Amino acid sequence: MFNLPLEAFAFLLVAGGVGVVLGLWGYYGSRDGRFMYRGRATHTFYCIKCGRLYTHRRGDRPQPCPQCGFKNDRLKF
Ligand SMILES: [Zn+2]
Repeated sequence: MFNLPLEAFAFLLVAGGVGVVLGLWGYYGSRDGRFMYRGRATHTFYCIKCGRLYTHRRGDRPQPCPQCGFKNDRLKF
């Protein structure tokens, strides 16, 4: 067995605990961030023909209005 001073052992114990907490924090933070982004990743569209507001998951191209079918660009704030 190797001899380790008490201060070094305490430092390794605290550093290991802090590392585990930071690792779990990062893992669950990124996982929840992806989950939340997927749920709220909708884009808002305003139909200039009938005046209806609607949302759609894809915002990279014009989406048809569910009421009249006119294709509108998404709103940009
Ligand atoms: Zn419309």
